[in-house]
Amino acid sequence: MNDLIYFDNAATTPIRPEVYEEIKPYLETYYGNASSVYSIARESKKAIDKARAQVATALNAKPEEIFFTGCGSESDNWVLKGVACALKDKGNHIITSCIEHHAILHTCEFLEENGFEVTYLPVDEYGKVSVEDVRKAIRPTTILVSIMFANNEIGTIEPIKEIGALCKEKGIYFHTDAVQAVGHVKIDVQDMNIDFLSLSGHKLGAPKGIGALYIRKGCKIKNLIHGGQQERGRRAGTENVIGIVALGKAIELAMEEMDEVTARLVYLRDKVINSILSQVDYARLNGHPTDRLPGNVNISFEFIEGESMLLLLDANKICASSGSACTSGSLDPSHVLLAIGLPHEKAHGSLRITLGYQNTEEQVDKLIEVLPPIVQRLRDMSPLYEEIKNKK
Ligand SMILES: *Cc1c(COP(=O)(O)O)cnc(C)c1O
Repeated sequence: MNDLIYFDNAATTPIRPEVYEEIKPYLETYYGNASSVYSIARESKKAIDKARAQVATALNAKPEEIFFTGCGSESDNWVLKGVACALKDKGNHIITSCIEHHAILHTCEFLEENGFEVTYLPVDEYGKVSVEDVRKAIRPTTILVSIMFANNEIGTIEPIKEIGALCKEKGIYFHTDAVQAVGHVKIDVQDMNIDFLSLSGHKLGAPKGIGALYIRKGCKIKNLIHGGQQERGRRAGTENVIGIVALGKAIELAMEEMDEVTARLVYLRDKVINSILSQVDYARLNGHPTDRLPGNVNISFEFIEGESMLLLLDANKICASSGSACTSGSLDPSHVLLAIGLPHEKAHGSLRITLGYQNTEEQVDKLIEVLPPIVQRLRDMSPLYEEIKNKK
C-alpha cells in the first residue's frame, strides 16, 4: 500500500502515527470503565479529562462545554433534535442552507415531518451563504440557525463570524457543523458567537466512531441518547476511551501544526488547480477561489463522468472522489453542485481531490501528470465531445 496516493481526506483520514502511539496503552492495558472506582478505571477517567481539555482549547471553549459523541452525524442530530425539543414552546422554525451535509438535511426533513418548519437558504455560485439572506429568513418563531463552517464537497468557507454576530443580536441559537473545518482553519467559539459546534475525529487523523458537540454553557438542549450518567448526564453510553484519547491528541497536533500545514496545502492545492485548468479545456473550479479549505480541489470536466475518472485514477493508485453518486445507487448528482448552479451534465463530471498533511509534492505532481491524459482518453470516447470539436 506504500505507493498508494490518498487524496480523499474529506471522506476520512488515516490514523496519525502519533495518535496510534497515544491510544496504544488504552488498547492494551487500561481497559477500565471510566465510571468505576478502582485505579485502572481512574486511568480511563484521567485520559478522558485530558482529551476534553485538548478539544476545548482548540475551540477556545471550556472543558465542561465539550461532550463526546459517537460521530459527527450524532452531534448534528443531537443539536437539531435537542434544541427543537427544548424550544418547541418558543417556536418551530429552523434556518439552514441547502448545501449542508445529509446529517443536517435529513434531520431537518425528519423535524419537518414532526411539525417544524425549515428554511433552506440558497448559496451563490461559489457556495456562499449570504448573511443578509439569514437576516431576512429570521421569524419571531426561529429557534435555531445551523450553517456549516466549511463545505465537504467544494471546500467553501462560510461567513461564520458574521452569522454568529447576527444570531447573537437576534437572540437566536447558532450551530455550525464544523466537521470539515476543525483542525484545518482557526475556530474561536467566543469570537465567532457559536453556541453549538459539531466535530468528528476521523476527518482529522483519529479513528472513525468518535465525535464531539460543543454546547455553550447555559444553552437549552434536550438529550438525544438516554441511559446512564456519562458525560455529566447529557450523553449516555460507556465512554469510547480509545476514540476520545485519539480525538484529543489529533486535535492538539492539528492545532500545533496548523500554520505550517495550511501554507503547504494551499501551495499544493493551488498547484493542482492551476496546472489542471491550464492543461485541460472545458473545465472549471467549483467552490470559492480563496475562501476555501486548504486541501480542497473540486473541478468539473465537461463531457465525461466523474465515476470513470475515479476508476482510471484508481488504476494509477490514486484515491479521489466525485460529485456524481452512481456507485452509491443514486443517479442524482451532488446537491451541493446543483445548488451552486451547475447543470446536471457538469455536476456529473466533477472530481474532488482532498489533500491532507501527509500528502507530498511528488504525489501532487503524479496527479498533474496522469489526470489530463485520463480526461482526454474519456473525452475521446464521448460523442458529445466529438460534436463540439467538429463544430470548432
Ligand atoms: C463527515 C461529515 C459529517 C459526518 O461525520 P461522521 O463522523 O462521519 O458521522 C458531518 N458533516 C460534515 C460536513 C462532514 O464532512
